[in-house]
Amino acid sequence: MGMCFGVRDAIRFAQQQAQREALTVLGDLAHNETVLARLRDQGIRMENQLAHVRTSTLMITAHGASERTINQALERGFQVLEATCPLVRLVHRSAATLVQQGYYPIIIGKRDHVEVRGLTEDLAEYDVILTESEVAALPPRPRFGVVAQTTQPIDHVRHLVSLLQKRFPASEVRFIDTVCLPTKQRQAAAIELAQRVEVMVVAGGRQSNNTRELTAACQQHCPRVYQIQEADDLGWDWFAGAQTVGFTAGTSTPDEVVEAVAARLQEITSLGAEQEESKAYSQI
Ligand code: SF4
Repeated sequence: MGMCFGVRDAIRFAQQQAQREALTVLGDLAHNETVLARLRDQGIRMENQLAHVRTSTLMITAHGASERTINQALERGFQVLEATCPLVRLVHRSAATLVQQGYYPIIIGKRDHVEVRGLTEDLAEYDVILTESEVAALPPRPRFGVVAQTTQPIDHVRHLVSLLQKRFPASEVRFIDTVCLPTKQRQAAAIELAQRVEVMVVAGGRQSNNTRELTAACQQHCPRVYQIQEADDLGWDWFAGAQTVGFTAGTSTPDEVVEAVAARLQEITSLGAEQEESKAYSQI
């Protein structure tokens, strides 16, 4: 669980660079407020629009950006540094290959997510889908080329691909699985854990797509799931009567948050156990 190599490397790269020169990151370096606040304290600026950038060096986040955005930044005279995760680059390359080979690109993901926007901005035509009804609304094409946002649950992605194949049996559907391995591993581990516990805690930023996906996946297997951003969000009464508690964290959740949540959970659950024990003694 916890932070993936893509986000970790991007943060390290930004911190090293910020020691050498003033730096602005285009967008949020990680979808986690705790991480962002720490980076701002270290002097790293974050802006959503090129027009607001006041430093000469600009960094692209792990989520990547379109060639169009990068070229606009270069034309404005910025030095552009890319912290794009290699697994996001793989999605860009896969989509470009499918288009070159004559497939109509379909992206399974969230239309407004920064990673998906970075992908679609370079495509002349495409569809972004996330639901069964969006598959049903697609017009027919002879050849569909499908990729997925890296943080989508792989089972849902496969389900939509198979629906697409069923809906257009006469079309060729080629799917390149671009859901990243850290996402798959965290999803699989979280589901396995959620099946075995009575209460599940998921730590991560409120803006983090993969954290929300982890929560949704856990909710399918565990009746009591709580998503929190930090240890202070934990409710002392959430664990009443529970013998087993599971804990996982999204790919943008920093180690110190994971450790703080684990410590607080230990504190809360041991106190709960002590209270149960003293109740049992008083009943004897
Ligand atoms: S979630 Fe996956 S694709 Fe995104 S930064 Fe992490 S490793 Fe890379």
